[in-house]
Parts: sequence; structure tokens; C-alpha cells
Amino acid sequence: MYYVQGQTGEWEVVIGLEVHAQIISDSKLFSGASASFGAGPNESVSFIDAGFPGMLPVINEKCIEQAVKTGLGLKAQINLRSVFDRKNYFYADLPSGYQISQFKHPIVGKGEISLDLENGETRVIGITRLHLEQDAGKSLHDQSADDTFIDLNRAGVALMEIVSEPDMRSPEEAGAYVKKLRAIMRYLGTCDGNMDEGSMRCDVNLSVRKRGVKELGTRCEIKNVNSIKFVQQAIEYEAQRQVEVLEGGGKLVQETRLWDTGKGVTRSMRSKENAHDYRYFPDPDLLPLVLEASMVEKIKAELPELPDEKKNRFITEYGLKPYDALVLVAEKATADFFEKAAKGGDAKLTANWVTTELFGALNKLGKSIEESPVSEEMLKELVGLISDRTLSGRLAKDVFEDMLSSNKTAKAIVEEKGLKQVSDSGAIEKIIDEVLAANADKVAEYKSGKDKLFGFFVGQVMKAMGGKANPTMLNELLKNKLGK
Ligand code: ADP
Ligand code: MG
Repeated sequence: MYYVQGQTGEWEVVIGLEVHAQIISDSKLFSGASASFGAGPNESVSFIDAGFPGMLPVINEKCIEQAVKTGLGLKAQINLRSVFDRKNYFYADLPSGYQISQFKHPIVGKGEISLDLENGETRVIGITRLHLEQDAGKSLHDQSADDTFIDLNRAGVALMEIVSEPDMRSPEEAGAYVKKLRAIMRYLGTCDGNMDEGSMRCDVNLSVRKRGVKELGTRCEIKNVNSIKFVQQAIEYEAQRQVEVLEGGGKLVQETRLWDTGKGVTRSMRSKENAHDYRYFPDPDLLPLVLEASMVEKIKAELPELPDEKKNRFITEYGLKPYDALVLVAEKATADFFEKAAKGGDAKLTANWVTTELFGALNKLGKSIEESPVSEEMLKELVGLISDRTLSGRLAKDVFEDMLSSNKTAKAIVEEKGLKQVSDSGAIEKIIDEVLAANADKVAEYKSGKDKLFGFFVGQVMKAMGGKANPTMLNELLKNKLGK
């Protein structure tokens, strides 16, 4: 368990997250303007996004399906009737003066996410709700010394706000939650989860309480944290800060804070606003959203396999260790890569190669698995050569290195360099005899009990054979020869 050690004892940290996830959809929630990232300023803006009077919102069916899909992926209650409300506030990048959101009646109710933690434990975190809302525009303060510019491309883009229960207890759990939520949405194709492009943003709610205390403490909300690392750093800092305030005899006020990336601290932004500050009311331009049960059923029937199910299948179908399965399913692209490469071959060995050699190489190259210079087919061929004993593990690593830089197939490299492993017992035996004859003194030492020398003989034979001796055979033959 994670506790903050204070002057007066241990404090438990309580965390609830609100995640804003941009829905993958061609157009915005209530307009036909493009929702894609990267257009020039104000190029994707319709009259309704710009808040022109008299324009009527028309709901985008695709966004509703995406929200339902995400809800089902979170094992949540889908509400067949939900209501769009206006959340009123004034800001330059919100031309209509209100954001269309859902308040009392969200499209998705209670659900859950299960987290796999480092220590192998599983933790289930409650989802309170998921609702649909419009994003606001963007104020650009850094384009000119005197002026602020407004870009409305983002205004009206569909967001899902996903609110968790205050169930998390450590930075690790919060990080695991964001990762898992992102993985689920990526598997579903409902949000790309790119935090650095702002398509997933996170508000961290945090309070502390003395270990053993039941009641929740006063919370602060840290707005718009845009990476998992920052979520975790903000939690560490804020928990410590709250403990110090309370132990110093101070009182916490419920407030909204900012994470200052440069200084690594949270700073007060404004005192916490309440729902009534926004004067929510049902948007008179929109009817309640009523879904057909059959639509939900259809989406449910077509849901893809999600990370938890895939992990379990990898364990039962391929006999993978739970940890390896977990690592492979964390990103859908990795899971797909593994399955393609493992098809019809040695799945455990393939899993090993993906999680160690391939990950290591990609890490060094700074590439994602989609950009891997070694394709699924190429890895499959390499693992096949280990399985059929053409290559030892040692030689395979050299071949793999070569593949990374030359883009050649394993077979081509083996052919070219004459790397074929020697599995001819006669040939190995011949070298063993030579090595033992040349080291008669060591053989005598070995026979009188110096077992460690076995490795020395193996090394000498390997060296003499340019690393190409089949290691299993070499071991067997050597044992026989030495009579032990
Ligand atoms: P609001 O609408 O004002 O943001 P909510 O009740 O919807 O308030 O809660 C927002 C988030 O704060 C949720 O994720 C919830 O789990 C979390 N939360 C509520 N109370 C606490 C608390 N005492 N400590 C930590 N997190 C909390
Ligand atoms: Mg909130």
C-alpha cells in the first residue's frame, strides 16, 4: 500500500479521475465540420461551432455509437434515455456562451475497469458515469506579444467525459487506470488516446485522510494534466502538500489547481465552482436522446476482443505466462504483431522475442511497433530457424541485429554468412576431443570435483566452432565424454 509519511503518522491518498476523451469521428458532435487534428486555424468551423445565432444543433449518430461502445467496453450501464444540457459560462473561446453537455442524465452510468498492478495484483476501479459533451475552442496566447488569438477548430468536437469513483490509492494505480482506459478505447477505436495532441486529458481529484479514517477529506482538482507521468508527479506533489497543510494546523479549501510542468508543483487556479454556478438546464434545441435497445445489442454483439479477454486467451491458447500476456496486450498493435508472428510456430518463444529483443531494439531506435524494421513475417521466420535448430539462441541474436540494420530476412543472412548451427554430433564430438586433449590438466581438475570447469569446456568448444555448435547437443556430448 502507498501511504504518505507525515510528522503525525501515515496518510492515505484518495484519487478520482475525470478523463476527457476525444471521440474518433469524421465530424463534430452537432455539426458537419471536420473533427480531425492539424488543420490550419479556423479551417474546420461551421456556423454552429462559431455560436452564430439561430443555428440548430443536429446530433452526430456516429458519436452516440462511439459513446455506447465505450460504455460497453467499461462494462457499464447504458442509459436508453439521456438528456443534453447547457453548461453556461463565459469565455472567449466559447462563442455561444454555453457548452452542450449532459448533467443529470448521462448516456452511460456505472461501470468498472480492472487494473493489473506491478505486484501481480488486480484492482477494480468503479466508473461513475460517461457523458457526451462539446469541446471548447482554443485561445492562443503565444502568437503575439499584444494579442490573443482564437482557434475554433476544436469547438464542438465530441468528447466523452469519463468519471471514476474515488477508488484509486496511489500514483501507480492512477497511472495504470489511465493506461488501461486508453488501451480499452484504442481497442474499441473510440478515442486515439494521444495525450500530447490533447485527444485525452485528465483532471485529477485528490484528497488525503489519516490511515484508518473512513470519511473522505476535502479534495482539490488538478485540471488538464496531459501525460501519465505528469498525472503521477502531480499526485505525489499534491498529496505531500495537503498533508503538510493539515499537519501544520491549516484547512484545505476545495479548489481547482494547475500542474506547473516546469516547476513540478501544483498552483491554485480558482476556488472550486459548483454545478449551480453553471446554471445547467436542458438544451431547448435538443430532444432527449432515446436509443433503441436493439442498437445497443447490435454494438454489443460486434464489440472487439478487449485487453482483459485477450490476455486470458493468450494464457490459455498459447500457454503464455500471465506477465508476458499482460505486456503483449497493453497495446493492440503489439498484440496483433505477436499473434501474426506466432501463428503456427512456437508461441512462447515468439512472445519472448517480442518482449525482449524486439522491444529492446525498438526502444533503442525510438520506433513504435508499427514502424518496426523487422516485420511479423520476418520474426516468424527467425523464430522458426531457432525451433528447427538451424540457429542457436546466441546466433539468432546476431542474425536479428543484422536484420534490424540490413532489412534482410533471417534465411538470407544465415545463407550469406554461413551461420547455420552445427547439429552434426560427429563434428561436435571431434572438436570436444580436441579441446579435452589440449586441456588434460583441467579435465583432471574437473574429475576431482571442480564442477565449474564444465562451462569452461563448453566455451572452448563454442569458440573453436565459431559459436555455431548446437548448444543442447554440445552439452549432452560433453557430459558423456567427461563421464559425469
Ligand atoms: P464535480 O462534478 O464537481 O467535478 P464529482 O462529484 O463529479 O464533482 O467528482 C469529480 C471527481 O472527484 C470524481 O472522479 C470523484 O471520484 C472524485 N472525488 C469526489 N470526492 C473526492 C474526494 N474526497 N477525494 C478524492 N476524489 C474525490
Ligand atoms: Mg469535475
